[in-house]
Amino acid sequence: MNLDTEIQYLKGIGPKRAQDFLKLGVRSVCDILTFFPSSYQDRTKIISISDIYKQGRGCLFVRVGNFFERSLSKGLTILDVEIFDDSSIGYARFFRKKNPYSYIDIFSPIKKAFKAGTFAYIYGDVNLGKGGRYISVNDYETIGNKYDKPLLFNKIIPVYPASEKLSQKFIRDTVKTVLSISCSLYPNVSELIPNFRNIPNMNSCEAIQKIHYPNTLQEAEHARRSFALQEFFVLETALCLSRNGVKKKQKPQRYFVQKTLLPAFRNNLNFEFTIEQKKAINDIFSDMQSLYPMNRILMGDVGTGKTVVALSAILLAVENGYQAMIIVPTEILAEQHYLTISNMLSGLNVKIVLATSSTLKKKKEINEILSGLESGEVKIAVGTHSLIEGRIKFKNLSLIVVDEQHRFGVMQKFAALDKAANPDILMMTATPIPRALAMTVYGEMDMTEITKFPPGRTPIKTYSSSENYAYVNAIRELKKGNQVYIVYPLVDESDKLVLKSAVQEAKKLSQTWFKDFKVGLLHGKMKDTEKNDVMLKFKNKEYNVLIATTVIEVGIDVPDATIMIIHHAERFGLSALHQLRGRIGRSSKQSYAYLIRSSNSENASRRLSIMTSTNNGFEIAEEDLKMRGPGDIMGIVQHGFPEFKAGDLIKDSDIIEFTKIHASKIIDEDPMLIKESNSILKSLVSKHFSNKAKLINVG
Ligand code: ADP
Ligand code: MG
Repeated sequence: MNLDTEIQYLKGIGPKRAQDFLKLGVRSVCDILTFFPSSYQDRTKIISISDIYKQGRGCLFVRVGNFFERSLSKGLTILDVEIFDDSSIGYARFFRKKNPYSYIDIFSPIKKAFKAGTFAYIYGDVNLGKGGRYISVNDYETIGNKYDKPLLFNKIIPVYPASEKLSQKFIRDTVKTVLSISCSLYPNVSELIPNFRNIPNMNSCEAIQKIHYPNTLQEAEHARRSFALQEFFVLETALCLSRNGVKKKQKPQRYFVQKTLLPAFRNNLNFEFTIEQKKAINDIFSDMQSLYPMNRILMGDVGTGKTVVALSAILLAVENGYQAMIIVPTEILAEQHYLTISNMLSGLNVKIVLATSSTLKKKKEINEILSGLESGEVKIAVGTHSLIEGRIKFKNLSLIVVDEQHRFGVMQKFAALDKAANPDILMMTATPIPRALAMTVYGEMDMTEITKFPPGRTPIKTYSSSENYAYVNAIRELKKGNQVYIVYPLVDESDKLVLKSAVQEAKKLSQTWFKDFKVGLLHGKMKDTEKNDVMLKFKNKEYNVLIATTVIEVGIDVPDATIMIIHHAERFGLSALHQLRGRIGRSSKQSYAYLIRSSNSENASRRLSIMTSTNNGFEIAEEDLKMRGPGDIMGIVQHGFPEFKAGDLIKDSDIIEFTKIHASKIIDEDPMLIKESNSILKSLVSKHFSNKAKLINVG
């Protein structure tokens, strides 16, 4: 048996159970070892029967008396077992579903175990039934002799994420068996990692064992942190290798600041770059001017002004005779960028095209786009996924800008598009994520952050309010010539009722509250072209109010929209609410967000109170992460990112920072990991990350 052995070949498992395990994400022996408990049951304290009545739950050590069996309605039967200890008498109760046509005694294993006079450990809850109080049994262990040591009591017991098919007991037994046979096979790199803080330096086997069966809860946490140390160390090593891999390839393109286009572009803007924008431009220019391809991510909350930064990079490329492309996730965004960029570059005589599935349908335009890019006459291509198509060829593309990168997923390797040999890549994202998470998610890239908004912005005021209050204020703003978004959530596509009611609601609103204004409707069932059309009309003020049952595109810029009303606000994730709110407050005018909730649950009010108390995307992301767990955030950020078995992106941010530094030391000394002492590390890196090779290139 080795770590890769599939568990169906283990004794007592077989293909059917193996399928059930697979549903829990467990395929191999290795997966079982790291199938860590989701919580623990503290069975270190044994209490008396009279105490369990006071506490409601706990572990007992009792002598067994007689049993009584009784059928309830609905095929349910119960077995009551008399139990005694020095303090009192009680009843331990088992429930089972009985098949009325079966002669099999479902209680037979229990009856066998609970013979009168035996001793039993019981973990249970006190409940009240018709005949009085009883202890419903969650788990038990009987022993022949009063002084025998129990296996599952007097200790901390792991609780696994079980399923309908796989009982807690079956999982525990399987884990236990596998632990005893193969734990020592688990690769260990603890010797490569210096001591860190108070984390005990355990080898991986010891850590794994203690995570499953700790002596104390504190020991469980220590073991978890110790295992996480190795986990993050391997990840950071992989990320470091990847960064080096990108840097090693020299690129052909060379840039010098020519001062032909850039000053004219700056003159076209009616504002100055902020300090952070200048720093971002500096970082990017020095990347572009180095011998190696740029691989940088620019992070900045919605509205922090990333577009002009990207445009500066694009112009540096164009000034030097190269072409650049900017790729975005949706047509609406592509169109908006095309318009803004054309505007900002007016008078500069730089040819720019919009390449989306719509424009690439029009015969006349196709030709202009394709031949213009291939001849090099067109300098900038703005577009969607269509830009990736094989028929799009560039004469000398040197720079790829990816906007709203999180919508594509980090997995997408834009460098490998074969539109250019070793292009410079600039990614941009508005998804604010906590620093430790960013370091991991974007760990293979260099990072620049823009944390402050351009001057002259008035922070958005957010209220948790009633519908009427929101509408009254909306009308006040509309009368000033400002615009209003009203958003309904469509939780999922099948949620037809919600869609219907939102569309009807929209109709009603346009005939009542907003009858004096032009109201546009955007919903999920519309075609992309129709959505585009509505969005553009709103942007051009042909609509004053936009009612949307679908989330409005991130990145849409309508400076006069000053009101955002969100219905059923508690149904959105905090980050989604923040992104939505980012559609307003895009000028110096005061903007207002009204969150209308349909639930009064504590959770709903807590979430919304975070929104009303801060506009800071990073604070909100941290809260979101705390409330929803990293899984969800990772889902937003990208798909297919490695999962951590013990590591926790929030609790272990210190470990992430520490292992990042240490991993790069190791790679500095041994860039290809060829030293014998690093061989286990190398195999772990390729084992865990080679199938994510699109993210991380490891040899
Ligand atoms: P995002 O980072 O969300 O992509 P944008 O690039 O769309 O943000 O910028 C938001 C708005 O801020 C735009 O209207 C843009 O013209 C404006 N803007 C950008 N930089 C500045 C600045 N330094 N001063 C004033 N306004 C700016
Ligand atoms: Mg943007």
